[in-house]
Amino acid sequence: MGFKRPDTIKPFDNKIWLASPTMHGDELKYMQEAYETNWMSTVGANINEVERITCEKIGCKYAVALSAGTAALHMAMKLAGQELYGQPNVGHGALEGKKVFSSDMTFDATVNPIVYEGGIPVFIDTEMDTWNMDPIALEKAFETYPDVKLVVMAHLYGTPGKIDELKAVCEKHGAIIIEDAAESLGATYKGAQTGIFGKYNCISFNGNKIITGSAGGMLLTDSKEAADKVRKWSTQARENAPWYQHEELGYNYRMSNVIAGVVRGQYPYLDTHIAQKKAIYERYKEGLKDLPVSMNPFDAENSEPNYWLSCMIIDRDAMCKQVRGERDVCYVKEAGKSCPTEILEAIASINAEGRPIWKPMHMQPIYRLNGFITRKGSGRAMTNAYIDGEAVDVSMDIFERGLCLPSDNKMKVEQQNVIIAAIRKCFE
Ligand SMILES: *Cc1c(COP(=O)(O)O)cnc(C)c1O
Repeated sequence: MGFKRPDTIKPFDNKIWLASPTMHGDELKYMQEAYETNWMSTVGANINEVERITCEKIGCKYAVALSAGTAALHMAMKLAGQELYGQPNVGHGALEGKKVFSSDMTFDATVNPIVYEGGIPVFIDTEMDTWNMDPIALEKAFETYPDVKLVVMAHLYGTPGKIDELKAVCEKHGAIIIEDAAESLGATYKGAQTGIFGKYNCISFNGNKIITGSAGGMLLTDSKEAADKVRKWSTQARENAPWYQHEELGYNYRMSNVIAGVVRGQYPYLDTHIAQKKAIYERYKEGLKDLPVSMNPFDAENSEPNYWLSCMIIDRDAMCKQVRGERDVCYVKEAGKSCPTEILEAIASINAEGRPIWKPMHMQPIYRLNGFITRKGSGRAMTNAYIDGEAVDVSMDIFERGLCLPSDNKMKVEQQNVIIAAIRKCFE
């Protein structure tokens, strides 16, 4: 069965995207400057300037501009691995055979860099208050794996996680934190920017992020030694010699000065983008308030998200039957109830783009043999189940009941109202 668009709702002529780049004009000016000064390279004024602006904005001492957020996470893993486990020989990962705790409900770019360095990700379940790593499950994980010394945590959809609690658990067990702030640039926790809480942190300027370079990312740290290493590694690890002299493994990970021009032009609009995204979030919240759903939650007392993506989750008792296989899905329509699949079809039918919640890493075939720790213990549940009113596997529960809504900055109020109407129809 498939969703049929009601005749009363007309599809948009131009697609409303989940989150597309929003340009302002200055980007072109700085790109042109790179062209005219011939700094069409991985060196130049735009790179220096975006690194400076980032340090000033986030409050970190060093920012190293790289080709992607994933590259920044890779460099962070390598730094942490060398620090924790000594200098590996070329050809061996810095985390070879070592377990690393990771957010479970996140984009796979949080996790893959662990594996690039030979590490073994162990996934930590999610909490319901911010949809990020659960500090209680993290504590449990250290009971099961007391030797783990590295934790990578993401701030999903631009919402800061329970940073104080997570930090306290990591400190107790002497573990280093890598913060994946790729989605949360500009979000704050107790007044401080995300990307400052870990030892080695990352941000991204991928095309769909809150501001973009079309691509790009940065490694953030307060350690000069770490920043210098990443500058060297990311430009093929050249030693200071008259020829190409190599003592370490190198990478071609540096950001282009043209890309940096785009980022430079975007930075002054970061706050504008956040304000637009916040307004989108609040309009959804208001427009959906009498439905059996809620928006992606955050800790209003301690944090201010960047509202990168607006998401919603359907109340348990308002879920119609939905069965997901590895590659396809079906559902059974019921009056007064709906499910993410039906709502995503309704959104698609009017030429707008929604998306399922990131499928949790412990449910991904590639990571099926990796550990997964929940509040209630270890091991995977076969299906979404509840004990004493709490989900046994919170990641799975949010994946099953949640979805991301069209959150493009350029979406007009009237257009958003049409999307809201289409969602409301699903619950009739
Ligand atoms: C986008 C993203 C990344 C990767 O950033 P790229 O710049 O695309 O490599 C990493 N982690 C999360 C959570 C992301 O959303």
